[in-house]
Formats: sequence, structure tokens, C-alpha cells
Amino acid sequence: MSALSSWPPTLTASQREELHKSATTWALSRGLCYLPPPIPDVPSTSLILPPAAAIHAPLSLLPTPFPRSLFLSSQRLQSVYNVLYSRVATDTEFLDRYMGCESEEGVGKVDSFTGKLWEGWKSVREEGGYDRQPLHLGLFRSDYLLHTSNNSYSLKQVEFNTISSSFGPLSERVAALHRYLAASTSYYDSSPLLNDKNRFPHNETTKGLVEGLATAHKAYGVPNAHILFVVQPSERNVFDQRWLEYELFESHSIKVTRRTLDELATDAKVDPTSHSLLISNPTSPNSPPIEISTIYFRACYTPTDFPTPSHYDTRFLLERSRAIKCPSLPLQLAGGKKVQEVLTRPGVLEHFLPDVDQNVLTELRGTFMGMYSLDLDISDGGNTTFPKTRAKHLGLVLKPQREGGGNNVYKEDIPAFLDSLSASSSSTIHSESKAWIAMDLIQTPPGVGGYLIRSPPPGSSKEEIEAGRGGAQAEIISELGIFGYSLFGVVDGRKKIEVEKTIGWLVRTKGKESNEGGVATGFSVLDSLLLV
Ligand code: ADP
Ligand code: MG
Ligand code: MG
Repeated sequence: MSALSSWPPTLTASQREELHKSATTWALSRGLCYLPPPIPDVPSTSLILPPAAAIHAPLSLLPTPFPRSLFLSSQRLQSVYNVLYSRVATDTEFLDRYMGCESEEGVGKVDSFTGKLWEGWKSVREEGGYDRQPLHLGLFRSDYLLHTSNNSYSLKQVEFNTISSSFGPLSERVAALHRYLAASTSYYDSSPLLNDKNRFPHNETTKGLVEGLATAHKAYGVPNAHILFVVQPSERNVFDQRWLEYELFESHSIKVTRRTLDELATDAKVDPTSHSLLISNPTSPNSPPIEISTIYFRACYTPTDFPTPSHYDTRFLLERSRAIKCPSLPLQLAGGKKVQEVLTRPGVLEHFLPDVDQNVLTELRGTFMGMYSLDLDISDGGNTTFPKTRAKHLGLVLKPQREGGGNNVYKEDIPAFLDSLSASSSSTIHSESKAWIAMDLIQTPPGVGGYLIRSPPPGSSKEEIEAGRGGAQAEIISELGIFGYSLFGVVDGRKKIEVEKTIGWLVRTKGKESNEGGVATGFSVLDSLLLV
């Protein structure tokens, strides 16, 4: 795979500057954008003011080479992953055991965020909440890195996201941007790969995600109901969400209502008889409240979304309604890192996928890295030293049950972290470690480079702005995300997948020196695929 190690092709400084200009102009005119960072001294809630400016999203100047056969494999596997996670979400016994608060192994017992979500789910299910609405919608994203061993590449899963899987519309736009640059500038003939249209796979993720939402809306059966987007008050990645909203309206005539959890505390009601979710509009108090068909969560995946207990009450009120949730609480819990770890244990895949061909299961299992619960690495005699983890800490990442980036502990930071666990009183060490999984580090191919473009932060000096012209050249790691959707549930006592599809992809690229990924967290840039 010499295409990877000889990447990027050489471009002169003036060629890179020309491309940079074309790229950011295209991005700003085609909505490949972010809201700018908040102005200092203006509270972040001011983001609810009408936006007056946008910045381009962080971008890679060139698409990144990726082996075609592994891209095709990730596409084939998505359907199996859609089915797998739909089934995990409807396996109450399994989720109670691994994510609940009452079982020996349950993460909910020691991780208060997981515990709160699990308790909310338990009370809604005991009230018969899922009899009122048996369907759940998943808009999924399965994330992978290329792994190198014995001079060959394989596809390894980083994680499977079941909530707020973002960057569908922006990834579609960055793919279109790279196709545009290839067609309009030929990238100055710097590489023959860039002149071959067949190496740029289609990306219609927006249409696919919206098809998932529209399918749920239709299943709900009230055509003029709205879809509710639950959003964070200080969200800057709003265009990625709005593109879904515009597509819902333009292609399906479905309207969207956007609310934060705080707003829903006053605007949301559940009709006591029909259990319909009704949203009032404080700006037109005389209009009747709007019925909601589907709730799409682009918030509620992190504890900071729940600053008070009443935020949880609002979240559970939504769960009690007969609107279809994307995701429901059990589907959110199914996306826990703990579940990902348990799925690697012998026999678990077979339990969930008895109807899937052995060869396909082997291919799926081939995407798993080694994982184990930290809890299983406690030496005997109450002397909790985590011997196995310490011995190989340079090849590991430790992950808690969190989403959104910035939560993991990597390599050389692991021993001190284990010390801090051991420093807690010995009776609780065992329990705290239950909330963490250890995962073997994926060995990404060395020597791949790229040019990364970021909008200069406000207050940048002239020198800093100059330094970013033409993009920062860096050795890179690219993470591929495959989007899929699934509408599923327990209908008339039987588990059923109404429809599932593979719908698109995303590439995020980061500098090699950064352990974490994440575009929103500032580590990564948006990128696209060049199949080799
Ligand atoms: P989150 O849900 O917060 O996004 P992830 O599991 O995706 O958590 O981890 C965040 C980032 O850490 C990933 O985007 C990837 O860059 C890096 N990472 C996670 N797991 C591994 C791994 N096993 N090997 C190498 N890098 C990893
Ligand atoms: Mg995640
Ligand atoms: Mg991630």
C-alpha cells in the first residue's frame, strides 16, 4: 500500500494557498460551516441570538487514501451491526446485567450517569411505556481505524455510536468539496489518484439519515406531527443539524421543532390519555401545542447536559411519551463501551446473531480489538494493583462509559490513573474499575501525511494566520465512520426490525500526536476518502 506512505503528494506553497482559498470559499458558500466560538465575556447562551457569522469547518485539503476492499467490508458489515445493536437494545436481561444498577457486573451501580439513565429506563418500562410505543429509531455510526500488523491492513472498530452520531451532512459536503477541487484544479496533477473519479465514493449521508427519521415519522402515523430535535444550548455544530431539518422539510414535508432540555421543562407535556408528546410554543401562546412523532437527540449523551435532577425528569418525560425516540434509553445504553467489550466475549455474538452466516460473523469479529473490563484485572488478596493493565499499559487505552470525546486515558497516563483508583479505599476500588474498559491500541499506518486547515481563532496574530496558509502539514490518522439506521422494536411480543440500511460515511483526520479524535473537541478535521 505505497499510496498511503507516499501521501500527501507534493504541492508548492502557492498551489496549496490557491487550494486553501478555493476550499474555504466553497465551504463557506455551501454550508460546510460551524458557528464561530463565543465572543469572550458574552455568555454562551447568547448563541441563541440570531447567528450573524459562520466559520468554515476544520478541513483536510486533500482526501485521504483508504484501501477500497476495507471500505467495502465496512459497508457490508454495517447492516450486521445495525441488526446487532437493535437486538442488544431489545434484550432487557442483557442490558440489566451489564449496564444496570442491581446486578454484580452492572456499570450503572458505579457510574452515576449510566445508573440514572438505567433507572429512568426501568421506571418507564415498568409503567408500560414501551407498550405505548414499541418502536425505537437508531441513527448509528460505526467508527474504524486502519490497523497494521504483519505488513497488512485490517479494519478495527473504535466504537459504535447509538446517540447523536454527528457530521453526516458535513461529511457529505467535504466529499463534494474534494470532488470539486479534483475536477476544477486537478489538484495541479500532483497525483494521478486524484484524477480518477472512481476513487471518490458517493456520499449521500444527509438523505440517508433523513430517510431514517422520515421512516419513523411515517410509522408514528400522524402526518402533520413534527420531529423534535433536542439540542444543546451552546451547540456550535448547528449547520450539520440544520441540513437534516431542511432536507426533512424539502423532501418529506416534515417540520422540525428544536428545543433544549431547559426549554422542554416548560414546553413539553405528555397527554395523560393518549400519551402523545405535545410541545407548546411560547412565542405563539394561542396556537395549539404541536404533536411530536419522533424525538431526535443531539443532546443528553453527557452528564453535563443534566446539570440538575429536573433535567433527568424532563428526559424521562420524553421517554414516557408515545413518540418514537432516536435513541430510546435502552438504545443509548446499548452504545456503552461496556457493551462493546462484552460483545467480544465468546458466544455473545452468536447469542445475538444466530441467523447470521459464520463467515460474516468471522468478518465482524475481525473488526474487534482486544478488550476487557478493568474489573477483571484485580490481583487477589484485596491488593488491587491491576497487574495485567500495568504490564502492557503502553499498548492500551482505558475508556469510561462516556461519549463526546476527551474522556479516555492513554498509554503513559495509565499507571498514574490506576494509582488514583487504588488510592480510593480498597472496598470501592473494585467497584470503580467496573466503570472502565481497557482496549488494545489500534496500530495505525505510519508515514501518512495531510494538510489540515482550521479557521484561525479570534484574536490570532498576523503571524499565526500566515502560518496556517495552505494548511498545516502533519502526519495523520484518519478515522472512518459508517452511518446506518434501524427502526425496530418488540411488536406483539416479537422482536422485529422494520427496516435497516447502510447510508453513508464520514472521515475525520487528526494529527498523529493526538491520542483523541473528535472534530467538535478541536482535535480532528473533516476529510473524505480516496479509495486505493
Ligand atoms: P468517544 O465516544 O468519546 O468518541 P472513542 O472510543 O471514539 O470515544 O475514543 C475517542 C478517540 O480515541 C477515537 O476517536 C480515537 O481517535 C481514539 N481511540 C479510541 N480507541 C482507540 C484504540 N483502541 N486505538 C487507538 N485509538 C483509539
Ligand atoms: Mg462515541
Ligand atoms: Mg468516538
